[in-house]
Amino acid sequence: MANLLGPSGWLTGADTQSYSRDWLDRYGVTPLGVARPASTAEVAAVVTLCRAAGVPVVPQGGNTGLCGAAVATQPGTVILSLSRMAQIGAVNADSATVTVGAGVVLAELHRKLDGSGLIFPLHLGAEGSARIGGLIGTNAGGSHAFRHGMMADLVLGLEVVLPDGTIWNGLREVQKDNAGYALRRLFCGAEGTLGIVTRAVLRLAPEPRHRATALLALPDFGALVRLGTLLRAEAAEFLTGLEFFCDFGLGLALRHVAGLGFPLTSRAPVYLLVELASGSGLVPLDDIFADVLTKGMEAGLVLDGALAASEAQRAAFWRLREEQPEGQRLEGPQIKHDIAVPPGRIADFIAQGAVLCQTALPGTRINPFGHLGDGNIHYNLSPPEAGFGNAAPALAQGLAQLAQAMGGSFAAEHGLGRSKIALADALRDPAERGLMRAIKAALDPAGLMNPGVVLGHEPADN
Ligand SMILES: Cc1cc2nc3c(=O)[nH]c(=O)nc-3n(C[C@H](O)[C@H](O)[C@H](O)COP(=O)(O)OP(=O)(O)OC[C@H]3O[C@@H](n4cnc5c(N)ncnc54)[C@H](O)[C@@H]3O)c2cc1C
Repeated sequence: MANLLGPSGWLTGADTQSYSRDWLDRYGVTPLGVARPASTAEVAAVVTLCRAAGVPVVPQGGNTGLCGAAVATQPGTVILSLSRMAQIGAVNADSATVTVGAGVVLAELHRKLDGSGLIFPLHLGAEGSARIGGLIGTNAGGSHAFRHGMMADLVLGLEVVLPDGTIWNGLREVQKDNAGYALRRLFCGAEGTLGIVTRAVLRLAPEPRHRATALLALPDFGALVRLGTLLRAEAAEFLTGLEFFCDFGLGLALRHVAGLGFPLTSRAPVYLLVELASGSGLVPLDDIFADVLTKGMEAGLVLDGALAASEAQRAAFWRLREEQPEGQRLEGPQIKHDIAVPPGRIADFIAQGAVLCQTALPGTRINPFGHLGDGNIHYNLSPPEAGFGNAAPALAQGLAQLAQAMGGSFAAEHGLGRSKIALADALRDPAERGLMRAIKAALDPAGLMNPGVVLGHEPADN
């Protein structure tokens, strides 16, 4: 491998340490080595070599995934890091597209687009480390997904190295492409089990030059759902942010994360960060806000609120929401659940989920926060004083079943990885499972591409 990639392209032993464990430090053994190819041809050569030798390959981007899918769990595995494939092509302003390498860090792409009049509208807490290939691998969502879509909606074309080393060049630059099966979508959310994304054509959006951002205090989650309906009706296409969190989560963030402040006069059970944006200065965003807030207050849905008066204040409001995971991490042990329900069922899920948790493990401290626009709830738990004991699997299964019964999903935006295989085995429809295994067997009959992820360790052709 060193002959193929040169000394900086092949790491072994202690040099592999920073690639070996997942973000949450739950998975990962020392790999055979870390391959760091610098071109698509080198990726194909590594995959071909590994295939011939029967060596499993795990693609890795920024290694910020939350389901343990980007590290090796069997010795003798090669981790294939895309970090050297970080080229950003010229922005095509007329078509609003850009072609990027799979190793481009999301925040770097945002910076590169500064001043171009265009944005890449995907934002998440890990954007300083997450890379395009990993975002595609997990079909990442984030805080603007309800407005602009998830990663699969933002990818127009892909270049992929398939498990047999073939390079598929599907770098088309159009939204409309119904020439057969939607292959590009197949790789979005495949978690590196069907091939390695090497380049992507991304769809850009006009930069919103004018914004209005508010932090609102609400009496309960029922009010949150109703206010969401009101905001969608009144602010419609100008809505770009609809993020909620609860008072328990706010308390954790204020206690553990430096530099946060609470801008309202009194605490409340639930908070909603609302953002309106437009590319045109002619749209009276503040008036739309004032109108909808008056209606919300009259209906008893809003108790208090503050409108950001500066860019610094806007950033401070967003930090309160974005530091929810960090506040809970610093509090101590936790269990994360990445649930989606139809937005109209958020309050029902949170109420019924609380009963389920308190029955299974009295004293569990629940921190639901997330994305009101698409119903994605990060339903994270901190333990009672005595700890979680062995309650985690029953809690995960109960909450997953509750979400499914409401028409939702137990794996909204983080994927299945390794940590949710048992849940998927228990809950996935057999027909759906059969289809996924057939696809895996067709593309990766040797089962060497990120084995154990998405489908577990069952032989793909069984
Ligand atoms: C603080 C924090 C906040 C987060 N917030 C969000 C959020 O709001 N929304 C959200 O959706 N996620 C969120 N995540 C999860 C994570 O950031 C995303 O899943 C992200 O998409 C992972 O990107 P990555 O480059 O780190 O991928 P990795 O962790 O390196 O890999 C993730 C998966 O993609 C595969 N993969 C990596 N590169 C490739 C490639 N080139 N081709 C094919 N497969 C590949 C890997 O094998 C693995 O299965 C958050 C994570 C953290 C730590």
